[in-house]
Parts: sequence; C-alpha cells; structure tokens
Amino acid sequence: MILHKVKIMLGLEPSCEEVNGFIVQYLDGDLDEKTRKKFWAHIGDCSTCGRFFEQYTATIDLTREAGDITPPQELVEKTLAFLRTRWADGASASD
Ligand SMILES: [Zn+2]
Repeated sequence: MILHKVKIMLGLEPSCEEVNGFIVQYLDGDLDEKTRKKFWAHIGDCSTCGRFFEQYTATIDLTREAGDITPPQELVEKTLAFLRTRWADGASASD
C-alpha cells in the first residue's frame, strides 16, 4: 500500500479521484491504451477503487438486466458520493 501511494505521488499511477473519472471513460471506451494500463495498475493496487469498480459495473449490469440500458443517474451519483466520502479519509477533501 505504501508503494502504491509513492507511485501516485510520482505520477506513475493516477490518483483515486482520477480513477473515479476513468471508470466512466473506460466503460465508454474512451481511454487510450497508456491510460488504460495506469487505470488497471491502480485498480489492482487499490482495494477501494477495485471494490468501487466492481460495484459500479455490477450496478450497470443490474440495470441492464432490468431492461434499462442507461443506469439511473441518481443511483450512479449516490454511489459516487458515498465513495467520495470514503476516499476523502485518505485524501484532501475538495468539497
Ligand atoms: Zn484508488
């Protein structure tokens, strides 16, 4: 975990906040290969983001199964808001 934080500080890995944004881009197929590699490196190292990614994709799968192609924005926002408060424990809160 310490190595993980050093990597983020050196810019070798994106921060949790950046990964948060990457997830949406990743699912849209908007991430270039370089960013995707950093994204996966972070997801592999960071249990918080790993769990968030699983939860996020599971949420989308569930809404798809329910016949809704687009996940309800409210649900996505709630999930993100919840995780942001958890991330804020280890990072500087901006809002
Ligand atoms: Zn993370």
